[in-house]
Amino acid sequence: MSSQQTYSAPSSRIGFKGKPKIVLMFFNSVLFSNAIVRESSSWYQESFLTSCPVSPKATPYFIGLMLLELVVGALKADTPILTIGDGLTSISCGMISRMPQLLFRGLELSTYMYVWENFRFVTLPWDSPWTWWACLLGVDFCYYWVHRFAHEVAFMWAAHQVHHSSEYYNLSTALRQSLTQPFTSWIFYIPLALAVPPSIFAVHIQLNLLYQFWIHTELIRDLGPLEWIFNTPKHHRVHHGRNEYCIDKNYGGILIIWDRLFGTFAEESEKVIYGLVFPIKTFEILYVQLHYYRYLWKKSKYYKKIKNKFLTFLNGPSWKPGKPRLGDHVDNPKVTGTELPHDPSWTLPLQLYAVLHFLLVLKAYHDLFEHKTVHFLRVLRLAPHHRDGSLSASPCWQLTAPTGRPSGIEDGSNAENEFPYRINKV
Ligand SMILES: [Zn+2]
Ligand SMILES: [Zn+2]
Repeated sequence: MSSQQTYSAPSSRIGFKGKPKIVLMFFNSVLFSNAIVRESSSWYQESFLTSCPVSPKATPYFIGLMLLELVVGALKADTPILTIGDGLTSISCGMISRMPQLLFRGLELSTYMYVWENFRFVTLPWDSPWTWWACLLGVDFCYYWVHRFAHEVAFMWAAHQVHHSSEYYNLSTALRQSLTQPFTSWIFYIPLALAVPPSIFAVHIQLNLLYQFWIHTELIRDLGPLEWIFNTPKHHRVHHGRNEYCIDKNYGGILIIWDRLFGTFAEESEKVIYGLVFPIKTFEILYVQLHYYRYLWKKSKYYKKIKNKFLTFLNGPSWKPGKPRLGDHVDNPKVTGTELPHDPSWTLPLQLYAVLHFLLVLKAYHDLFEHKTVHFLRVLRLAPHHRDGSLSASPCWQLTAPTGRPSGIEDGSNAENEFPYRINKV
């Protein structure tokens, strides 16, 4: 199919009225809202640890929805919506992306707390609905800019490209997260600390990421008027496309209004071909995560001028000397619409081995975070708390220094009128 042709999806996958579609949406909404409620109610115990898309509490919901998508996709789609190699790579990326947060989340929260305690302009009431709505908008606004910078600044793109490296588009793609992106993205949320209580912020940054899980599917085509305001599967498909009209478009998290306001919105039109402009054609996890840093380093060495070396990292990924800051996308390889995703032929025994091996690793991962590390950190973090919704955070290196068993949720001793748990300042 020519890239100039208007894309029309196969009839079995399009439309708002098909029964499988409704069933999928129903399960999506029920399971997703349950996930939100569970995540919201448990954030006090795990704080920022659950903000990664592969958090222990969310894992069963993610797996359930992915299986549902697989079944509906097998019944309705013309081509496979998922392959074992790509799916396992995406989920594995989500798992390892969470590892640095064991150390880094403490520093991140500490910084937010420091700004909140020393520089805030106002103290928004933590228990006001207006604060919640303001925070929802504020976090989503910040996410838009985090995301836009992640696409328009090459060294940040080196981290974020992981999320775009799949040539498929399904729920597992949502979990394909970067190992290194959290090291820069948190800075963009710090302005919220001038007004938003850390406790409210901690909930909303999780909700924002959780929302974005369900929009990674091809099975939901068009949601009517909701498309005007919300980021939807239709809009986010464009964001994952490598067609020229898709590049650097639709950065929104929950809301698409930011793209409409700031001129980065694009409507889905031609068939979207997913993945990086230059597909990496591998499932090697460390390569997927880190290859672009090596590429940037080699690219910067290629230039003689110091200025160009720096601009290699600071301008857009497509930038070259003499080009605009974001480069010239007409230089990108042309998308014809006939591109096929990377799909090496694995024998059935090899596929079974990969799945079995992955499930064992997943079990170990789940046990590590659910029963040991999280519990360990939870014990460290529980302590008396403030009614103003403030938290205290330990520098990351202090998270490994036990301070004894604190009072709080585990012995049910906290009074009803107290604000729930805070992170213990060690
Ligand atoms: Zn992106
Ligand atoms: Zn995405």
